[in-house]
Amino acid sequence: MLVHSFESLAARDGDGLRYAVFLAGCPLRCIYCHNPDTWTTKTGKEYTNEQILKKILRCKPYMKAGNGGVTFSGGEPLLQAEELIDLILQLREHEIGSCIDTAGNVALSDAVKKVFLVCESVLLDLKFATQEEYYTHTAGSLQRTLDTLTFLTENNIPTRIRTVIVPGYNDTEESICRYVAILRPFKNKITDWELLGFHTLGFVKYDALQIHNPLQEKSALPRERLAELQSFAKSVL
Ligand code: SF4
Repeated sequence: MLVHSFESLAARDGDGLRYAVFLAGCPLRCIYCHNPDTWTTKTGKEYTNEQILKKILRCKPYMKAGNGGVTFSGGEPLLQAEELIDLILQLREHEIGSCIDTAGNVALSDAVKKVFLVCESVLLDLKFATQEEYYTHTAGSLQRTLDTLTFLTENNIPTRIRTVIVPGYNDTEESICRYVAILRPFKNKITDWELLGFHTLGFVKYDALQIHNPLQEKSALPRERLAELQSFAKSVL
């Protein structure tokens, strides 16, 4: 598999203490991306599943103690769905669960479906609430994410939705209501809907890679505003 990086103490990529594997390559170009260094597979290094498994097993004690597991993130991990299936199954034999952190914006191939069916849980980004905004700000398809969400909920796969809130783009109550209209039919089938505040920690990567940063003049979303919107979102969903 083409791996961008490993993180052995990840606390925000699923339940408990996680071992995170960031896979290289992503078909989207989200304006707020803080990992532009994962976009191209050229930055990835090839590892066999056995090599990755060995790294993960070294951290099994703390994952178990912290009620965690492994999270495959990126980039877009589902671009390497075929290879992922085998690794997730091997992890299951070691009683380690896998979470897939995805934008759900790849075709629902047999391999992608199988990844979902063998993993333990999914973090699914719902990026923007209209097709026009979704395409303009990510170059992806809202419908693909919704198709993914439908598959996940129909198959009772624990799914937490995540949405990045960007000042001036989707940080109003009206915007939240548009997401709610999409999510309400899935309300009783999703685990949670978490709002994440836009931050500027990834700006340094755009500079280093000499990639245009469309939000370079933006400030981070204030925590208080994020809390207000999260509370509003919970009250109206
Ligand atoms: S899907 Fe994730 S990695 Fe890909 S561009 Fe969007 S935020 Fe960045």
